[in-house]
Parts: sequence; structure tokens; C-alpha cells
Amino acid sequence: PSVFAGIAQGPEDPILGVTVAYNKDPSPVKVNLGVGAYRTEEGKPLVLNVVKRAEQMLIHNESRVKEYLPITGLADFNKLSAKLIFGADSPAIQENRVATVQCLSGTGSLRVGGEFLARHYHERTIYIPQPTWGNHPKVFTLAGLTARSYRYYDPATRGLDFQGLLEDLSSAPSGAIVLLHACAHNPTGVDPTLEQWEQIRQLMRSKALLPFFDSAYQGFASGSLDKDAQSVRMFVADGGELLMAQSYAKNMGLYGERVGALSIVCGSADIAVKVESQLKLVIRPMYSNPPLHGASIVATILKDSAMFDEWTVELKAMADRIISMREQLFDALKIRETPGDWSHIIKQIGMFTFTGLNSEQVAFMRQEYHIYMTSDGRISMAGLSSRTVPHLADAIHAAVT
Ligand code: PMP
Repeated sequence: PSVFAGIAQGPEDPILGVTVAYNKDPSPVKVNLGVGAYRTEEGKPLVLNVVKRAEQMLIHNESRVKEYLPITGLADFNKLSAKLIFGADSPAIQENRVATVQCLSGTGSLRVGGEFLARHYHERTIYIPQPTWGNHPKVFTLAGLTARSYRYYDPATRGLDFQGLLEDLSSAPSGAIVLLHACAHNPTGVDPTLEQWEQIRQLMRSKALLPFFDSAYQGFASGSLDKDAQSVRMFVADGGELLMAQSYAKNMGLYGERVGALSIVCGSADIAVKVESQLKLVIRPMYSNPPLHGASIVATILKDSAMFDEWTVELKAMADRIISMREQLFDALKIRETPGDWSHIIKQIGMFTFTGLNSEQVAFMRQEYHIYMTSDGRISMAGLSSRTVPHLADAIHAAVT
């Protein structure tokens, strides 16, 4: 007998559940393109050399202790994280208008930001793109906000539904929160152009819509940290307020270390001080204070210019490998004369390709080819290698013919 006997079996997570199924498959040809985690050409997880070097330095530092961090996390890490996304010359940073707190990776940053807004902001509705990362609606709903969607992706063009996006944001209530993917939109790989970002910015500012940026892929989309932050910096440059969730999972390969930051750009320095005090009240009863190790790695790398440069080279190599996988997959489908237009594979950017394959085709590929992806047809390009591209191309070809 158990007091929990009446509990129903919960469903697997739609993304992480793909890995669970993959792990159970004994096939030697199986490929996991589900979760967005970088793999080398050999299909192995990668720890960046610069990260290993930072860890060695930390281990050999005799004065290092394991004391609690403050509620807001490692101060150096917070400053350097804001500088990384907003730019070293950002007026908001220079004017001390940014409140930054270390959080548990991107997810934790979104959650803390969501709870802060639910407590202190006058409009509880957050507009999220359709589609978006599957965790977004759950994170914000449990934080106490109401999630609504705005049109984002057009399946017909496999590109941005820019008209739909503008219409939906135009009809959002004044003050509503809008979740924006800073770059490398997940799952579609479709980003607005800079001109489109500028139009989005003007519309949002004119309606006092509050931007909440999610940056999980800075440097991963183009290979350049600055280029991938351009959308965010446009919104900071106009002097307006916004929230910013940053993750170091992908761009520094620190997935399991759970390192991220939430920054709130405020109208003035004294508002930023008050905002920070309220963020502490959100965090303290949630997990007290954040973990030390990952943030120490990041701070070590970001504050040393040689290590920073080494990081950008390794980051660019990851981004370039992903871009090359796009080209190889596109070419492989061309050679097979697979019916349809597959140019979106090379047009989309970041970690994922939104293939356009439907859930039956996805199921077929899993059954017959042992290829694992999310049921919406999203594949992680970072999980592919030159060795597995032909197998994937065969599977796609068979699925659509
Ligand atoms: N936002 C988006 C759009 C993501 O794709 C991810 C990672 N899949 C995250 C946030 C958060 O990831 P993490 O919590 O591991 O940093």
C-alpha cells in the first residue's frame, strides 16, 4: 500500500524522451538527432579545451573554497555575462541600469524572470512564437504568467511569417510581454533579418510591449558572438527596458553545469537596484543560491583575453561544423534527387533544421532507419557527422517517396 498509489504515469518529455527511446534501441546504426547537444565528427560529446584549461586553473588554485555564493551568484560572472550579450560599450551597462543574477542555465533564467514579472509587472500575458522551444509555455505558465502565441513560422515557405508576426503583436494588449529568440530560433532555425528586427522593435516600443529575450545560442548561429547579439543590442540601444535570459549550455558546452544569467535592463540605476533586491526574493526560497563551479569556469574564460580568444575559435569551429553538416545533407538529398525543395536546410541557422517532415514520416524513420528526432520533424544538425549524413539522407528519401 502506498499513499502515492493513485498517481498516474506521467508522459516522457517530448525532447528528452527522444534520448530515452534512443538509448533503448540496440541497433548499431541508430542516430540521435533529438536533443540539441553538440557532437564531434566522431559522434562524441565535446568539452572545449579552454574549459578544461579553466578547470585546471580552478583546481590548482589553493585559495579556492566551496563557500556559498551570494543569492545573486558570482559577481564577476554577472558583469561579464551582461557585457558579453549587450556589448562592452553598452550604454545600459555604463549607466548601471542592468540588474544581472546568475541562474540555473537558460531555463532557470527564464523561470526566475517569469516569476519576477508575475509578481511585479502589471501585464501577466506573455506572447511566445508559434512554434517555440517546448519548455517555454510550461516555464512561463508555472511562473504565474499566461502564455499566448504569436505567428512566427510559415510552413508553406519554411520561412518567417513576418506579416502574421506583425499582426499578432499589433493586436496584443499594450504592455504585454513578448518572448523573442535572440538568434537561431528553436525549433525552426528561422530568424528575422536585421531590417525585420528593426520593424519588430519599432512596433514593440510603440505599443510598450516588454521584450523578454532568450539567448541560448549566442555564437552558435553565425560563429560570431557579436553578430548573434545584434537583435538584442538594437533593443538596448533605444534606451528601453527588457529582460534577457542567457545560457552557456551550448556556446561553452557547459550543459550539465547549468550556467546562465538573467539580466533586466532598467530605465535607471536606482530602479535596477530595486529590481535586483526583488530578484533575490524570488531566488532565495526557490534554490537559495546558484552553483559555483560552472560560473567560475565562465568567469575565468571571459575575464582573460587570451582564453576569451581561444573560446571564440573553438566556438566558431562548432558553428562551422554545423554549417558544413547542412551543406552535406543538402548535397546528399540533391544527389538522391529526393523530391521537394530542401534549400531550407542551408537557409536555416543554428543548431536545428526544421525539416518539414510530418509525424508519420518521423515515426517511419525511427522504425525503419533508427533515426531519432522530435515528432515535429526537428533535427539537431550538431548530432550529425559526415558518417551519418548518407544514412539520414537515405531515410528522408525513403520517407518522402
Ligand atoms: N531556450 C531555448 C530556445 C533553448 O533551445 C534552450 C535549450 N534547449 C534553452 C532555452 C535552455 O537550455 P538550458 O536550460 O540548458 O540552458
